[in-house]
Amino acid sequence: MKIYKINGPILKCHDDGSVKVKEMVEAGPGKLIGEVIDVSRSSATVQIYDNTDGLKIGQDVYGKGRPLSIRLGPGLIGSILSGLGIPLSTGPSPAAAPAVFNFSPAVTPEEKVFPGTVLGSVPEYGIKHCIMVPPGITGDLVKIQGGPAAPGDTVAEIRTVSGAIEKIGLFHDWPVRERRPFKERLGIAEPFFSGQRVLDFIFPLGRGGCAAVPGGFGAGKTIIQHSIAKWGNADIVIYIGCGERGNEIAQILEEFPELNDPRTERPLMERTIIIANTSNMPVTARESSIYTGITIAEYYRDMGYDVVILADSTSRWAEALREISSRLEEIPAEEGYPAYLASRLAEYYERAGNYLCLSGRKGTITAIGAVSPQGGDFSEPVTQQTKRYIKSFWVLDKDLASERHFPAVSWNQSYSEYIPDLEGWWLDNSKTDWAFLRQKIKDILQEADHLENIVKIVGFESLPDKQKLSILAGDLVKKGFLQQNSYDENDAYCVIEKQIAIARAITDFYDTASDKLKKSVSYYKISGLPAIEKIVKLKFMKFPSDEIENALSSIRGELIELA
Ligand code: ADP
Ligand code: MG
Repeated sequence: MKIYKINGPILKCHDDGSVKVKEMVEAGPGKLIGEVIDVSRSSATVQIYDNTDGLKIGQDVYGKGRPLSIRLGPGLIGSILSGLGIPLSTGPSPAAAPAVFNFSPAVTPEEKVFPGTVLGSVPEYGIKHCIMVPPGITGDLVKIQGGPAAPGDTVAEIRTVSGAIEKIGLFHDWPVRERRPFKERLGIAEPFFSGQRVLDFIFPLGRGGCAAVPGGFGAGKTIIQHSIAKWGNADIVIYIGCGERGNEIAQILEEFPELNDPRTERPLMERTIIIANTSNMPVTARESSIYTGITIAEYYRDMGYDVVILADSTSRWAEALREISSRLEEIPAEEGYPAYLASRLAEYYERAGNYLCLSGRKGTITAIGAVSPQGGDFSEPVTQQTKRYIKSFWVLDKDLASERHFPAVSWNQSYSEYIPDLEGWWLDNSKTDWAFLRQKIKDILQEADHLENIVKIVGFESLPDKQKLSILAGDLVKKGFLQQNSYDENDAYCVIEKQIAIARAITDFYDTASDKLKKSVSYYKISGLPAIEKIVKLKFMKFPSDEIENALSSIRGELIELA
């Protein structure tokens, strides 16, 4: 069909019955990728995922006969992809994917195979990249071929019930807007650890859960997402740089190959996939970038991995949606966003979860999205709609950021609805009554906040000793536990055993000091203890180490001797 109108990324074509809605197309001599979004009255509306400056009226647009799809297979890890999943040649690409992969079969001929059956694997850095029977194919394996395989080579042949032979290679295409099938969705029962105390301990996220990080400009959204990408306990990290500055992606590319995953000691880039649609790239590909990301997440989930997907920022993504909608002359809803903003957000977040996959393995997708509301106003539509689909809400507070309290996660406005799901895990695995300890820390913070309001009126000195101590304890929680320096070698990432040790040191201090007050020890004797400074410094100590053990026992000693 031929183009008769070009409006930025939106084309109008004379419909000749050759395309369907949602079909992928190629436009013009440059074969620019696009998608049909509407067909009506002999006219087709096409959205192009590229710069359309070179396109001309009268040029041809061809249907590809399938929906907007990406190619799934080995070589994704360590790469930078466009919003359409196409490897970007620009930028300092860390490691070019090898052209040939060594395929090791896991099944033998004559076996019955189903969608998801793991036929074998190829190594992708330290990850075993499983080659699975693609969804929709069932039959008898008639041939399987181990050894070097290039893209395009057949590694297995399956005779389906109809008698036809399906050739299976290392790659297959999948439509990004369609969720990959699974056996069953499971409940959330394990924590996703970010290594950030305020998140893991106070506002936890479950593996397979969803979180949003709202915050105004400069509140620390990008740093917190980078920290999670670096230290989160996932097998695979998918980072979508969505409408933000290009230098933030460049920073990841510089840092990640240098930093090692604390669990595997391998460079972080060897488990990371970056999808880049920075502010200077086409807005249409920004819209598709989050679906490309979650499709790749599902693909690795299907192999039985724990995947975390981060999108910075979903507000820039929503702006792309708004811009496209306005070019389509759709009737706008709230603040100019299209009425389908909520359903598009759902199509992203609802694909996260804890799954029993077709392969019989278990895999999770944990989704985290930054939200950057204009002027930090959380009542705007993107923040409000996002809240419907997430259960951890990590509010970054501008005031905390300007006091250099980092991460600037507000303990008043943030929440997590995963506590009941995760309590059991903590009891079984860390032998700690985490929910109790967590509540104690939260109570200290709440009491301190309340008293600080009173102090503003009456002054600190007029408070009774007990309340002075509550304020001191609140300070210890903020400085010694919540604040975490992402630039400090030992503090950037905190294992849960260390989180528990610090939390206990603070709550034990508070309990013992409260007892001592009752036994007529004065507040100033307590506040003058060197133990206070020691508690605040625990986070900068290596864990486990003699240093931290010695510090903990000297803190205890000082309190016991207090009289
Ligand atoms: P946003 O993405 O919300 O606009 P950034 O993540 O870029 O904000 O953070 C802005 C600045 O705040 C950073 O350049 C850094 O100086 C500081 N900052 C944020 N988080 C931390 C942290 N955890 N530790 C130390 N400094 C931080
Ligand atoms: Mg940012």
